[in-house]
Amino acid sequence: MSSAEITDQVDRRLAALYERQLHIELTDDARFYESGRGYHPIGETVENQDEFAIAIARVDGTLTSVGDADVSFALQSVSKVFAYGLALEDHGREHVLTRVGVEPSGDAYNSIVFDERHNRPYNPMVNAGALVTSDLVRGADTAEKIKRLRGSLCDYADSDRLGVDRQTLQSELRTADRNRATAYLMRAHGMIEGDVEDTLQTYLSQCSVKVTCSELAMMGSTLANGGINPVTGRVCLPRERVRDVLSVMYTCGMYDFAGEWAYEVGVPAKSGVSGAILCVIPGKLGIAVFSPGLDEYGNSIRGVRVCQEISEGLGLHVFATEAEDVLLGCVPPALG
Ligand code: GLN
Repeated sequence: MSSAEITDQVDRRLAALYERQLHIELTDDARFYESGRGYHPIGETVENQDEFAIAIARVDGTLTSVGDADVSFALQSVSKVFAYGLALEDHGREHVLTRVGVEPSGDAYNSIVFDERHNRPYNPMVNAGALVTSDLVRGADTAEKIKRLRGSLCDYADSDRLGVDRQTLQSELRTADRNRATAYLMRAHGMIEGDVEDTLQTYLSQCSVKVTCSELAMMGSTLANGGINPVTGRVCLPRERVRDVLSVMYTCGMYDFAGEWAYEVGVPAKSGVSGAILCVIPGKLGIAVFSPGLDEYGNSIRGVRVCQEISEGLGLHVFATEAEDVLLGCVPPALG
């Protein structure tokens, strides 16, 4: 199948998938996260709750999107992926492993439970682990760490427009007591050093960087492309480290839903409480979905359903048989 034919197929199937998912009601126990406020009470109407976008970026740089793909939202926990990459690049795999593990915690993203046997947080995809990786990012001071993180995110997205949203950051800082408690506890155990407020500032700044769904898909395609941005050719992460990042996304990226996700969807992914999900299909695609409305795990309800459908329709599960892999094969995609 030619590249143009694949693009055409992806476009058509994506439009059909979008329409179908748009009209499926979210469950009425959906929760909505708003920075500065935390979760809205169930049933309350939230201003942006109907925003919905899907974007797919292929490793040849082609981007396909539907819905509100140019609306920006805070990266929130999706940023943990890229901060982990930077920490790995700064310190090497062995050192980072001594500071943060790679075990799924089986607990909620904001759990204050640590891997006591190794005196480190369980993994970099939960808040405790992400606080450690932010702390590890090199920089003379907090401002420099944040600048490096922002620069890295811009490189992945091929956009110099990405920046920390001040309002989001201020409200995140105001309501960060659980993260603050986690950080203090970790400092008491010697898991982090230095000033807790500085660590929070770095971590919450990366969470407050705003991106569009299209930009996020491009960031995913950079990881899918072995760490090289498909449009600019810039190396955003050494190839050997991409493997490390994708491994923890696969096992830990969807919090305490990670096992079921691996079983049902079967692709490395990361969610954030703003309603974003990023999937990486190595050698093929970055997929980003944005839809506020979260399930009990803090994952986007519509986002999970969309990814499930795309994975099934295109045979993207890592353990799918070759016959199921219809994306680049000769069988037309079954999506839609
Ligand atoms: N800023 C949020 C927090 O640290 C991000 C959490 C998330 O997206 N799961 O609590």
